[in-house]
Amino acid sequence: MPKKYVYYFTAGRAEGDRDMKDILGGKGANLAEMAGIGLPVPPGFTISTEVCNLFYLSGNKLPREVENQVAAALKRLEKETGWKLGDEKDPLLVSVRSGAKFSMPGMMDTILNLGLNDRTVEGLARKSGNRRFALDCYRRLIHMFGDVVLGVPKKKFEEILKARKEKIGVKGDNELKEKDLEALIADYKALIEQETGSEFPQDVRDQLRLAVAAVFGSWNNPRAITYRRQYHIPDDLGTAVNVQTMVFGNLGPASATGVGFTRNPATGVKEVYGEYLVNAQGEDVVAGIRTPSPLRELEREMPAVFKQLIGITSKLEKHYRDVQDFEFTIQEGKLYMLQTRNGKRTGLAAVKIAVDLVEEGLLKKEEALLKVEPDALNQLLHPVFDLEEKAGHEVVAKGLAASPGAAAGQVVFNAEEAVRWKERGKRVILVREETSPDDIHGMSASQGILTATGGMTSHAAVVGRQMGKPAVVGCGAARVDEERRRMTVAGRVFKEGDWISIDGGTGEVLEGDIKTKPSEIIQVIQGALKPEESETYRYFVKLLSWADRVRRLKVRANSDTPRDARTAYAFGAQGIGLARTEHMFFGPDRLPIVREMIMAASEEKRRAALARLLPMQRQDFYEFFKEMHGNPVTIRTIDPPLHEFLPSREELMVEVAVLKATNGDPARLAEAEKLLARVRELSEFNPMLGHRGCRLGITYPEITEMQAQAIFEAACALAKEGQKVFPEIMVPLVGSVRELSNQKEIIVRKAQEVMKAAGVKLKYTVGTMIEIPRGALTADEVAAEAEFFSFGTNDLTQTVFGLSRDDGGKFLNYYLRKGIWPDDPFETIDEKGVGLLMKIAVDKGRATRPGLKVGICGVHGGDPRSIKFCHRIGLDYVSCSAYQIPIARLSAAQAALEDVGRKPVVKGRDRAGARRAAARKRPGRK
Ligand code: PEP
Ligand code: MG
Repeated sequence: MPKKYVYYFTAGRAEGDRDMKDILGGKGANLAEMAGIGLPVPPGFTISTEVCNLFYLSGNKLPREVENQVAAALKRLEKETGWKLGDEKDPLLVSVRSGAKFSMPGMMDTILNLGLNDRTVEGLARKSGNRRFALDCYRRLIHMFGDVVLGVPKKKFEEILKARKEKIGVKGDNELKEKDLEALIADYKALIEQETGSEFPQDVRDQLRLAVAAVFGSWNNPRAITYRRQYHIPDDLGTAVNVQTMVFGNLGPASATGVGFTRNPATGVKEVYGEYLVNAQGEDVVAGIRTPSPLRELEREMPAVFKQLIGITSKLEKHYRDVQDFEFTIQEGKLYMLQTRNGKRTGLAAVKIAVDLVEEGLLKKEEALLKVEPDALNQLLHPVFDLEEKAGHEVVAKGLAASPGAAAGQVVFNAEEAVRWKERGKRVILVREETSPDDIHGMSASQGILTATGGMTSHAAVVGRQMGKPAVVGCGAARVDEERRRMTVAGRVFKEGDWISIDGGTGEVLEGDIKTKPSEIIQVIQGALKPEESETYRYFVKLLSWADRVRRLKVRANSDTPRDARTAYAFGAQGIGLARTEHMFFGPDRLPIVREMIMAASEEKRRAALARLLPMQRQDFYEFFKEMHGNPVTIRTIDPPLHEFLPSREELMVEVAVLKATNGDPARLAEAEKLLARVRELSEFNPMLGHRGCRLGITYPEITEMQAQAIFEAACALAKEGQKVFPEIMVPLVGSVRELSNQKEIIVRKAQEVMKAAGVKLKYTVGTMIEIPRGALTADEVAAEAEFFSFGTNDLTQTVFGLSRDDGGKFLNYYLRKGIWPDDPFETIDEKGVGLLMKIAVDKGRATRPGLKVGICGVHGGDPRSIKFCHRIGLDYVSCSAYQIPIARLSAAQAALEDVGRKPVVKGRDRAGARRAAARKRPGRK
C-alpha cells in the first residue's frame, strides 16, 4: 500500500489526532482532534509535513503519489459538501494554510477563498444571494494569491486599494460597493499581468496546485528561517499544508470572525480574552484595518453564539489541559472553530496558569512544571519597561540581549564617572567599547551596561547577569569614543549625560528615559515587600517548591560578594559553586596593595604586600561563609593574568609622554615608568592561554598560601562562633595532576596550620576546575588528587573550539545566521565536542574516585538546555548567577521529569532520595 500523505477530517470523524503533530503539524493535528471530538470544524484535509521535505527533494514539485492522494481527498470533500471546486453554480472554496509542528506565528503563508475565478464568483454571488460578498472574496483571493504565489509585492495591491478608497471617499473596506469591488478586481488583475506577464489563473485546479506549492515553499522564506534559528526549531521538520472548506465571516451582520484565549496571556487571569469583527474575514482582525471589538461584547451582540463559543473553548481547555488560543468564524449565526493551540504567554502568566491549572485539578504538579519555559522566569525578576512608554521612543540600535531587564539612564563612558554620577543621585548607563574587571564598581553603580564589542560570555555579559543588571553587548552599530565621551549610532551622537534606555531582554537600545518598574519578586527577595503582599511571589515560590521536590541536580550560585551570596540564598542557592576571589581584589582599598604585590622586586616584598591583603580577604570570606549558613562554599584561588590588575599599557605610555613633555611631577614620572616597565614584562600575546590560573599559584606560591590562610582563618573564626562552615577550595586551569598536587600541598598545609592554631577541626575539600582539554582527558589522574570537579565551560569551550571567548562575537552572529553553528557555544553547551569531553571527564574521574562530586560553574550552568545535559551526564550540581537560580531549579526539575524511564547516562549513582530529603529540611525550601 502506498504511504499515506493526506489525512482527511470532518466533524465527528478524523484520520488524525492531536498526537500527530510531527506528521500533521500543530494546526492539522488540532483540527483533526477538534473534528474528532465532534466540534464544528469545516471539513478538509492535511498534507503531511513529510511532503514538505519530498517537495524540496523533487525540485519544488509534489510527487505524483501525493498529487493522487490530494485529488482523492478533494473528491471526498466535494462529495461531503455537495459543492465542486470550479463549479459555476455551486463552487467549493477552500483555504490553504501552513502549519508546522511548532507554531511559527505569521512566518509562513496562507491563502483564502481559493476556487474563485471570473465565473465561479458569479456562482457564489447567486448561491449566497450577496454579490458584494462574492466580489469581496474574489478581490481578497487575487490579492493574497498575487502576493504569496506569484510574488507580486503586496504593497502594490495595498496602494491600489488605498487609492480606490480615497477616490470614493471611504475609510473601511466594508464600505466598498459592488462597482468599487469590480473596479478593484480589474485593477488587481491588470497589476498581476503587468508584474508577471501572465494572467491571474482562471483554472481553479492550477490555483490549488500552485497554492499548495507556495505554502510548502514558504517554509524556507527568510522570515521563517530566522524564526527557526531563534527558537531552535530544526530545519528538516517541514510544514504541513491544510486545505479546508471556507466558511465566511463576511456574509453580513450575522457573520463575524475572531480570535481569543481561554485566559489572559499577559497576566494569566481566567477571563474572557479576545477580539472579533462583524462582517469580516480572519485577516482583517490581525491586519488592524478596523478596530475589533472585545470578545465580551459578543455576549451582547450574539448571546447564543457567545455561550456556545465559551462552552466549546472551556471544553477545549479541559481537553488539552492548557490555555487555548483559538480562532473562530460565525457564518450567518453558525459557529465554526478554525484553530486551537496552546497559547503563548508571558512568564508571569505562565507561572500563574501552571499553578492555577494544578489547583483546578486539570494538571498534576509534574505536568505543570513542564509547562513553564525556564527562561520565562527571568521576566519575573528584572525591572520592566512600561510598554506604553516604550512605544513612544525610537529604537536606535540592536545588540546581543546579554542580561535581561530594562534600564534607563544618562550615558557615561567610564567606571569612575559612573560612580561619581551615582553618588550625585543620578541614574547612569555605562557605555564602553568593552568592560574589564576594573570596571566592576562602575557597572555596579549603573542601571545597565552597553558595550560595542563582546559576546554572550564577555565580561559585561557575565557580570551583568551575575549582578542582575540589564546588559546589551556586542552592539556593532555603536561607535564608542571613550576618550571624547561620545557614542555614534545610526548617525546620532550621544554625549555624556544624554539619556538612553536599554532592553536586555531584546537587545534594543532606545533614545530617552523610559520609565521602569522593579519586579515584585525582587522587592520581596530584598525585603522591601512582604511575601504575603505579592501574589506573584507566592505563585513563583509555589512552582519552585514543586520543582525542588523532583529535581536531582543541586543548584548553587556563582557569587563574589557577601551581598550577592545573600541574594543567592534567598533565591534558594544550596551553596556557592564559584567565588572568583580576584574580584575581591578590585576594591579601591585593595587594588593599590595588589599592585604593590605585583610590582614587588622580591619574594619578601611580595609577602609583605600579601600580609596586608590577608585581613581583607579573611573578612570577605568570613561574611561570605556566614551568608551561606553552612552550605558548601567553593572558593577559587587566583585566576586572571596579573596584568589585569595594572593600568593599561596605552594609558601609561600616554601618561609618561605627557609628564615628560610638561615637565610634570618627577616622582609620578618615575612611578609611571616603573609601572610601564612591569606592564611590558607581563604583557603576553595570548594572556588567556598564558600565565594565569594555577600557573600563577605555582610560580608565586605565597599567593595561594595567603588565600588558603584567609579562607581557613575565616572558617575557623565562624566555627568557633558555633556556625557551620564547609569550605571547598578550587584550583583553576589544571591540565595535569602535578599542578593540582602542587597547589593542594600548600592548601592542606595551611589548613592544618590554621586549624591547629585555632584549635578547631573543620571538614573541607580541595578540588579543581576542569576547563582545559588536557584536564578532562586525564581526569582519571586528576581525580586521584581532586576531591571534586567543577567544569569551567567558559574556558573549556574557548580551548576546545580554539576560539577566544572575548573575540568570538565578531563573527559568531554571522555563523549563527548562516546556520554554520546551531547555537552560540558560549551560551549553550556544545554537546558533541565540549559535552563529550565533559562526559569523558565525569566517567574517568569517577572511575578513580567513585562518588566524585562534579558540578559546573561556567556560564552554561544557568542555561536550561545545558542544565538538562548536565543532568543527563550525571553531574551533582550546577552553579549560576543568583538571578538565574530560579531558572536552574526549574530546568533541573524538567531534566529529571524528562528523564523518567530513560536509563541514566552515568550508572549507579542515585543519591537523589537522600538529597531531596535533606533539601526539604533546609530553610527556604518548603
Ligand atoms: C570558566 O572558565 O568557565 C569559569 C567559570 O571561569 P572564568 O570564567 O572565571 O574563567
Ligand atoms: Mg575559567
